[in-house]
Amino acid sequence: MRLRDPKIPSTSSSSQASRLWLASSQPQVAEPVMPQRDEAMRLAPEPIMVSDTQRRVVYVNPAFEALTGYSAEELVGRACGFLRGPDTCPEVQQEMREAIAAGRPFRGDLLNYRKDGTAFWNEVTVLPVFDAAGELVQFVATQHDVSARHIAKDELLLAARVFEEGGEAMMITDANQRIVKVNAAFTASSGYPEADLLGQSPGILGSDRHDPSFYLEMWREAGASGYWQGEVWSRRKDGSVHPQYLVLRRVVGGKGQTTHFVASFSDLTERKAAEERIWRLANYDSLTELPNRAFLRERAARLLEQAGQDGQPLAFLFLDLDHFKKVNDSLGHAVGDRLLVELANRLCSALREQDVLGRVGGDEFVLLLPGASATEAAQVVRRLQELVSRPFVVGPQELMITSSAGIAMFPFDGADFDALASRAEVAMYRTKELGRDAFCFFTAEMQAQCTRALLLDNLLRRAIERGEFSLQFQPQCSLKDGTLTGVEALLRWNSGELGPVSPVEFIPIAESSGLIVPIGDWVLRTALEQMRQWIDQDIAPPKVAVNLSVVQFRQPGFPDHVRRLVDEQGVPPCRLELELTESVASDDPTGAMAVMDALHAHGIGLSIDDFGTGYSSLSYLKRFKVGKLKIDRSFVSNVTDSAADQAIVSTIIRLANGLGMVTIAEGVETPAQLEALRQRGCDQVQGYWIARPFPPEDLPVYREAHAGSQSLLQPRRQSIHSRWTRRRRSAR
Ligand code: C2E
Ligand code: CA
Ligand code: CA
Repeated sequence: MRLRDPKIPSTSSSSQASRLWLASSQPQVAEPVMPQRDEAMRLAPEPIMVSDTQRRVVYVNPAFEALTGYSAEELVGRACGFLRGPDTCPEVQQEMREAIAAGRPFRGDLLNYRKDGTAFWNEVTVLPVFDAAGELVQFVATQHDVSARHIAKDELLLAARVFEEGGEAMMITDANQRIVKVNAAFTASSGYPEADLLGQSPGILGSDRHDPSFYLEMWREAGASGYWQGEVWSRRKDGSVHPQYLVLRRVVGGKGQTTHFVASFSDLTERKAAEERIWRLANYDSLTELPNRAFLRERAARLLEQAGQDGQPLAFLFLDLDHFKKVNDSLGHAVGDRLLVELANRLCSALREQDVLGRVGGDEFVLLLPGASATEAAQVVRRLQELVSRPFVVGPQELMITSSAGIAMFPFDGADFDALASRAEVAMYRTKELGRDAFCFFTAEMQAQCTRALLLDNLLRRAIERGEFSLQFQPQCSLKDGTLTGVEALLRWNSGELGPVSPVEFIPIAESSGLIVPIGDWVLRTALEQMRQWIDQDIAPPKVAVNLSVVQFRQPGFPDHVRRLVDEQGVPPCRLELELTESVASDDPTGAMAVMDALHAHGIGLSIDDFGTGYSSLSYLKRFKVGKLKIDRSFVSNVTDSAADQAIVSTIIRLANGLGMVTIAEGVETPAQLEALRQRGCDQVQGYWIARPFPPEDLPVYREAHAGSQSLLQPRRQSIHSRWTRRRRSAR
C-alpha cells in the first residue's frame, strides 16, 4: 500500500505493496513506512488526522488534539467534518469534497471550530493514500492554524478601506516627505488628482498664510515626537486656501526608523465660518454692519495704548442725527433703517484706513481718529456732516437730515474709552443746545484753538488772491570775512481780518490742508522774481534761501517744477538754495534721496534747516546731496553758557566738515554767541545780531550801510531800523 499523487503513476515495487506510503502534493518523494512511523506521527508538531475512505477518523495525533481540544478517543470512528461550523465557507468545503471524491489532494483555508466553539483559520492539506494496486485507502490531513495571518489580512483590508473610503482627507509620505499615497477624500478636497501628487513634497499644498518656518517646525516636531497637530491653511489646486485641522503622525519601522508620515486633515471651513458668524454677531451691528459698542471699546483700548506709546493724539467723535425720531415716527422704521444703512455707507467712504467708525445706538455713531489733531478732527467732522446733509433718496421720498457732533481729544479730555465717550457725548449735547447741525469740542481751549485754526484756514484760502502775503529777507554772512553769502526768504501774512499772523501759526495749518502747495509756490516764484530784480540792479546776494515744506517736497515732479520756475526767471539754479527739514526723510528716505538727487542734478542747492532737532540718521545724511547744515537756534541761544549745547554745536560743525558740508548758525543774537561760533569753526551766521529780516526794498540800504571796509558782522541796526520805521510811517 502506498500514498501518492494520483496523477503520477506508481513507481513502487510489489515488495513494498503492503507498506504504507506517505506522499505530499509536491513532486512525489515516496518513502516506505517504517515501524517508527506511528511514533513519528505522534511526535510531529503538525496536527495530523488520518481518515478512511468513508471519511471516518482513524487517527489523530496529540498536536491535533491540542489544536482542536478533542481527544483521540472522542474522535476515532467519528465522521470528519466535526471541525465545521456556522461560518465555514460552503464554497471551500464543496471544493474539498470534490477533490476528495476525485481522489485529488486538497489544500485550502477553512474557518474551523474547536471543541469549545472558538473559531480558527485552518490551512488544511488533505492527501489521498493509495495502495499498491492504486486503490484509495485513506486520507491524511495536516492542519495549520493560520488565524494570525487571516486577522492581519482582514485588518489590512479594513485599514485600506478606511483609508480609501473614509471621509477624512489623508495623505501618506515616505520618510523623506515625498507623497506616496492620498485617498479619495484628499483628492476631492485638494482638487489635485493623485497622479499630480505622487512623489511631490507636501509643500505644494502649503499656503502663504504660514511662514516657511512654520512648516519646518511642524515636520521637525512630527519627526522628533512622532506627532503634530494644529490648524493649517492649505492651498487647493485652483489656488484657493482653506483652513484644516491637521494630525500628522510618524510611522516607525521594525528597527525604530521612520518609514512614513501619515497626515489626516479635517476641513474647518464651516467651523471657521460659524465662528466668524458668531463673532460678527457679537461685535457688529446687524443693520449697518458697523462695529458695535463692545467692539469699539476693544479697538479703542488698543488704539489708545498705541497712541499713548507714540505720544500721538486721538480724536474721539460722537455724531448724532438731528430729529431722527421724526423720520421713524412719520415714515416708519423701515425707512429709518434704510436711511441709517445709507448713512453708514457714506460715512465709511470718507474715512482713512486707520479710522474706526461704529454705531453705538439708534442714530448715534462714534468715530475714532488715531493721530488726528483737534484741527484735523474738526476738518473730518465738517466733511462727515456735509455728507450727512446731502439728500437721501429712500423709495419715493427724498429726505434731508442734519447731525450734531461732539469731539473729545486724547489725552487731554480722557485716557480711556468710557471717559472719552462720555465727554464727546457731553460736547454733542452742547451742540444740540446751541442749535444743532454743528459740532463742539469738549474743552473750551480746544474749541478756541480749533475755531481759530478753522478761521485761519478759511482766510488763508483767499490770502494769495487778496495779496496779503509778502516776503522779508534775512542776511546770511560769512564768519571768516564778514561778506554777505545769501539771504533767507521769510513769508509774512498780513491778514485783512486779523492783521499780521506769524508763519509759526499759519504754516502748520496750511500744511495740514494742503494749501501750503500754492502758498509755497507763491513764495518760490516771488523770491526768484526778487532775485531777478536784484541781479538786474547788480546788488544781488550770492544766494536766496527758500524754506520748503515737506508737503511740497513730496509733490510728484517737484524737482522739475522748481527747475521750471528758476528758468522762467532766468536765475542761475545755483543761486537758489532750498531749506529742508530732517523730516523729509522720515517716511521714505530712499524716495527723499531720489528727490534730493534730482534737485542736485538741476544745480539747485540744498540745506538742512533746524539741524539737530529732528530725525537724524547719520547714515542717510552722508548720502544726502546737501551742501549746508543750519545749526538750530535752540543750540545757538545757549552756546555761551551750556556745556551740552557747546558740545552739540562743536559736534555738528565737525560732522559737517567731515561730510564736506558748510555750517550756518541761525538765531545769533549776541556778539558773545558770534564769538563762540567763530571759535568752533562755524562757517556762516544768521540772526538778529547781524540783521533782522527786512523787506526787499531795504537790501540796497543794508548793503550801502555795510559797504566799504565795514564788515556785515558789525551791524548798523540803528540805521536800517530807522529807515523801516520811516517807511512804515509813510505807508500809514
Ligand atoms: P526758520 O526757517 O527757522 O526761520 C527762522 C526764523 O527765526 C524766522 O522766523 C526768523 O524771523 C527768526 N529769526 C531770525 N533771526 C533770529 C534771531 O536772532 N532770534 C530769534 N529769536 N529769531 C530769529 P519767522 O519768519 O517767524 O519764521 C518762522 C518759521 O516759519 C521759519 O523758521 C520757517 O520754519 C517757517 N517759514 C517762514 N517762511 C516760510 C516759507 O516761506 N515757507 C515755509 N514752508 N515755511 C516758512
Ligand atoms: Ca529756514
Ligand atoms: Ca531754522
